[in-house]
Amino acid sequence: MTTMSAGKTTVIEHFIGGKARGGDRTTPVYNPATGQQIAELVQAPSSRVDEAVRDAVRAQREWRRVGLVKRSKIMFRAREIIDARKDELARIITREHGKVHSDALGEIARGMENVEFCAGLLHHMKGEFAEQVADGVDVKQIRQPVGVVACITPFNFPAMVPLWMFTTAIAAGNAVVLKPSERDPSAANWLAEVFLEAGLPEGILNVVHGDKEAVDALLSHPQVKAVSFVGSTPVAHHIYTTAANEGKRVQALGGAKNHMVVMPDADLESAAAAAVSAAFGSAGERCMAISVAVVVGDIGDQFVDRVTELARALVVRPGDQPEADMGPLITRDALERVTSYVDSAAQEGGTLVLDGRTHDVPTEGFFIGPSIVDHVRPGMKVYDDEIFGPVLAIVRVDTYEDAVNLINENRFANGTSVFTRDGKTVRSFEYDIEVGMVGVNIPIPVPVGSFSFGGWKDSLFGDTHMYGPEGFNFYTRRKVVSSRWPEASESQVDLGFPSH
Ligand code: NAD
Repeated sequence: MTTMSAGKTTVIEHFIGGKARGGDRTTPVYNPATGQQIAELVQAPSSRVDEAVRDAVRAQREWRRVGLVKRSKIMFRAREIIDARKDELARIITREHGKVHSDALGEIARGMENVEFCAGLLHHMKGEFAEQVADGVDVKQIRQPVGVVACITPFNFPAMVPLWMFTTAIAAGNAVVLKPSERDPSAANWLAEVFLEAGLPEGILNVVHGDKEAVDALLSHPQVKAVSFVGSTPVAHHIYTTAANEGKRVQALGGAKNHMVVMPDADLESAAAAAVSAAFGSAGERCMAISVAVVVGDIGDQFVDRVTELARALVVRPGDQPEADMGPLITRDALERVTSYVDSAAQEGGTLVLDGRTHDVPTEGFFIGPSIVDHVRPGMKVYDDEIFGPVLAIVRVDTYEDAVNLINENRFANGTSVFTRDGKTVRSFEYDIEVGMVGVNIPIPVPVGSFSFGGWKDSLFGDTHMYGPEGFNFYTRRKVVSSRWPEASESQVDLGFPSH
């Protein structure tokens, strides 16, 4: 690990050109289950960012020449190392993020899907070819890397989201400067070291730590050619407008408010279990968490009773304890923010049927239990804002059309799901709903690694989804070559515009 101990404090350093690099300015990293500081994280000034980008530029010139088979073998090796050591990575995630160990392993498994997909890069880097488009003329399209890519990632998936991005970028022949969240930075360093061990050349995957200063230095650096971002909507918008203004290609994924529609004919038991799992897993700190259950027709009381019963039984403990269902929130600020939404829910006209403030939780650390607010409507803060914590809002509506209108009027459009047994309802939902990722009797429809991930509206700025086939499109430039091999005698001067 690129850490060193200064006295008793662990210092987490940058990882540039395959080596640890220190820095003067640091910020604290906490264990959210204890509330105690566990490390200092170095923060990159723009000069350090510049050094990382220059290293990456140098390394990429060689890397793009490395054969696809060799690149693929590195992916296979990295996959084997991560799989063999996944418990170690999961413990790092739990220590800095707080999510329970099994959930951290789930995040790693989903992230590894991208390594597995990229191991097939010989297929994904294939271009197109058309023979004889005119007499003796052939046309092919080839894919080439864009150069140096900046990847800026959020705290809530410290391993999976970096794996979404950098695997595809490096498989396509680019070099990466990864700027992970300053709240749980160690997983990124761990992954960079693993890829080095797997044979990735130094300088192809660099990790630079920092805050806005480091991010803005990446956005304005002339040798960064593409920016992948995942985080909150205001920052995603800033990243998108700034980087696009600098002439870079950008994909910037933002926040979410994901609705789950429960139709009257749904299997209520499985719908209730799905709602509780998707609302409170990872303490609600997932961009695909269900934060609104939209209950259609007269099943509201039954659904709310069952969801409340299941959520009340959740065990909230530090993520390294085997009995824990749910861990703490990421920071004290996050805890205060989530608590304030629970405080105001009743004043706004909601019914607090489960109060996370009174749940049995550890006294130290950033813990709050699951909360459920019934009779929520648009216009209430608990509905309008992305809370990003363990708070489930219940909206009751009369008809399927009311549910669809509610969702389509929301500014976020990351994921949604419908629970029903009726095929016609499902067909209409798939067709009508204005959301990027849709689940049918599946509450968290994160696409498998061979598809691509992305929302609509304020959940994604840009037009390319992340990882999978769209990832390869984002990280490559297509070049079209038209060729003809005429006999010397066939050549003649012709000032007309060439036509086929
Ligand atoms: P965040 O926006 O605060 O931070 C994301 C990254 O941006 C971090 O690396 C951070 O250092 C950097 N950053 C923060 N403020 C910045 C600024 N003013 N200028 C430049 N860079 C800045 O997000 P977070 O709190 O780490 O993560 C949670 C958010 O991410 C939620 O809104 C969640 O919905 C969203 N998210 C979305 C997806 C998705 O796929 N759409 C996936 C995961 C998380």
